[in-house]
Amino acid sequence: MSIVVTWLGHATVVVDIDGVRLVADPLLRRHNGPLRRRWASPSRAAWTGARAVLLSHLHHDHAEVSSLRLLGDVPVLTAAENAAWVSGKGLRGQGLHEEWVQVDETKDVFVRLVPAVHHSRPMPHRPNAANGHLAKGPSGVVWLAGDTELYAGMEELPEMAGAPIDVAVVPVGGWGPRLSPGHLGPQEAAVACRLAGARLAVPVHWGTLHAPGGRTLPRGWMDAGGPLFQAAVAREVPECEVAVLLPGGSVRVP
Ligand SMILES: [Zn+2]
Ligand SMILES: [Zn+2]
Repeated sequence: MSIVVTWLGHATVVVDIDGVRLVADPLLRRHNGPLRRRWASPSRAAWTGARAVLLSHLHHDHAEVSSLRLLGDVPVLTAAENAAWVSGKGLRGQGLHEEWVQVDETKDVFVRLVPAVHHSRPMPHRPNAANGHLAKGPSGVVWLAGDTELYAGMEELPEMAGAPIDVAVVPVGGWGPRLSPGHLGPQEAAVACRLAGARLAVPVHWGTLHAPGGRTLPRGWMDAGGPLFQAAVAREVPECEVAVLLPGGSVRVP
């Protein structure tokens, strides 16, 4: 029984929790439309065998139909309006509200939605609901924040979980040097970890995707998010550990 969190770049995260594999916001191919991936595409072994997809929202850096298809006929757990869109693509959308769903009937692993506030880039052809997820098993609780800004009520996450937050997977950057509204930068993400009372934090949504030709200017922007987040957590909430991963890297939750 254990929790292992593996970052596959940008917002794609594999959570292996007590014998159940979950994949959040899968981008599994080399590139994603016009957005370039700096690293090789994730290895198949890292994501195959998922029992469910946790889909935070339908922005193109989170929801890609061909990647979802690669995962096979598994439920895509997301807000109801997003689930309808997913089902319309021939995939298995499963709309959630705030109830817990058991992912595998033989395992004590449950998933539910939690709020996210992320309204800044509405899309004409896709629903715009945005959420985070909690995944809970005998070994503990993982909070995947999704794309969000800080919101009133973040400190209620342990109450929503019915237990302390063992791991917070939080966005700390973007796919360009400037962050648009509705996102957490490194400092805000550290505040989110404090509010949630997280024991361990994994920064995501940085260091992976860039616009064509936009990888190196201004110099170093792609490498900044993780280390800046680590420094911000050390100031803001020193009791929280940080695991800054490279794409493909994992952390086992102590
Ligand atoms: Zn987004
Ligand atoms: Zn995003």
